Amino acid sequence: MRYISTRGQAPALTFEEAMLSGLARDGGLYVPETIPQMSADDIRALHGLSYEETAFRVMRPFVGDGFTDEVFADLIAKAYAGFEHNARAPMVQIAPGHFLLELFHGPTLAFKDFAMQLIGQLFQEALERRGERVTIVGATSGDTGSAAIEAFKGLDNVDVFILYPHGRVSEVQRRQMTTPPEANVHALAMDGHFDDCQARLKDMFNHFEFRDTVRLAGVNSINWARVLAQVVYYFSSAVSLGAPDRKVSFTVPTGNFGDIFAGYIAKRMGLPIDRLVVATNQNDILHRCLSSGAYATSQVHPSISPSMDIQVSSNFERALFDAYGRDGNAVAQLMDELKNGGFNVSQGALQALREHFDSGRVSEEQTLETIRSANASMGELLCPHSAIGVRVGEDMRDPATPMITLATAHPAKFPDAVEKASGIRPPLPNRMADLYERSERVTRVENDLTALETLIQERIAK
Ligand SMILES: *Cc1c(COP(=O)(O)O)cnc(C)c1O
Repeated sequence: MRYISTRGQAPALTFEEAMLSGLARDGGLYVPETIPQMSADDIRALHGLSYEETAFRVMRPFVGDGFTDEVFADLIAKAYAGFEHNARAPMVQIAPGHFLLELFHGPTLAFKDFAMQLIGQLFQEALERRGERVTIVGATSGDTGSAAIEAFKGLDNVDVFILYPHGRVSEVQRRQMTTPPEANVHALAMDGHFDDCQARLKDMFNHFEFRDTVRLAGVNSINWARVLAQVVYYFSSAVSLGAPDRKVSFTVPTGNFGDIFAGYIAKRMGLPIDRLVVATNQNDILHRCLSSGAYATSQVHPSISPSMDIQVSSNFERALFDAYGRDGNAVAQLMDELKNGGFNVSQGALQALREHFDSGRVSEEQTLETIRSANASMGELLCPHSAIGVRVGEDMRDPATPMITLATAHPAKFPDAVEKASGIRPPLPNRMADLYERSERVTRVENDLTALETLIQERIAK
């Protein structure tokens, strides 16, 4: 299995190489050259399996020979051992035909743990075998950073630097990043928005001298291995509702388009998914694009669902690559236009996208109202991101097809918004109840590439 860049100009890599590098050297994102297929019988055989066993069967064909079957199964087991719930991704019914897939039982209370815990294991194994070390730099709107720090803290072969927008993450998110005492963890609070953090990260990857000197590795959702890990729960949840003999749809609270793109991969592998519904907050570039074809960036408006406060949805490039018939030059041209504020998706490509994706947008007031009513009518406390999903999922639901909405974070990760809406302040789970007492360690940094690169080089030299 080889991986190619969405911009067509970088060398094809193995799974392990693509995982360790993150972004392709032509600025593109790696995608599998071909999509492995699961037949109806293969999918039927997943009934009753553990999450880990399902994960092995779904991911194995993508991973190649770098990891043996035994090692890969062992790494999967370790990755999910720290989850609170034995089902890992349990599902509850919230209305007739509408189900909530709880993806927040991992160590940092957001779905990002599903991918990050696994790639922490995969990185460690691959780097030890190769006798290499890397510098991981990640940009976060809050949840990626905490999940990455949790997955990589204390590992011998990595330093992990996380850039987050100063003052724009929730207190729980911030503390999860600033309280781990391990020396290889570096939380950096940068001036600006998440998009600024993500832009500086991309600059570092495109600065080859720096990239090669520090052996830069990326774990943002542009890393293919993260997308792959997220494909698994589309299978596990659909199978529990009767796939492959019954179709399901999914609604996904969306920012960077990584999670929903994993659903698209599941569909391409053969899972009978009817609709994939993108749910956005007031930062609705994806909803506007799927509605009109115009992908036009504007200001980011901070919201109560900060993990979705994004204008440039990196993984959308992967969907565009397929929608443009895997034409890397066409994608490279669109991404050039994006530097000047946006582009128009061609009619053909827009039609291709709409074959799979629908979208909906939820205002701040509607988000609060959904948290309130979900608690009142079914005793389910939703985080603001999950509430956006539930609202759109309910609006877009076709009565003939079960809708699965992804609950992307635990309500206790966003206690202020949840309390404002419902009057209930959700408590942190016991295992992290002392989070507010732990001491914090963070470095303030300017939104400046050279300053960042200098800081990283000084830190890893120690
Ligand atoms: C990251 C995140 C999202 C958005 O996921 P994408 O893969 O970036 O689209 C939604 N909700 C929560 C809680 C998140 O942490």
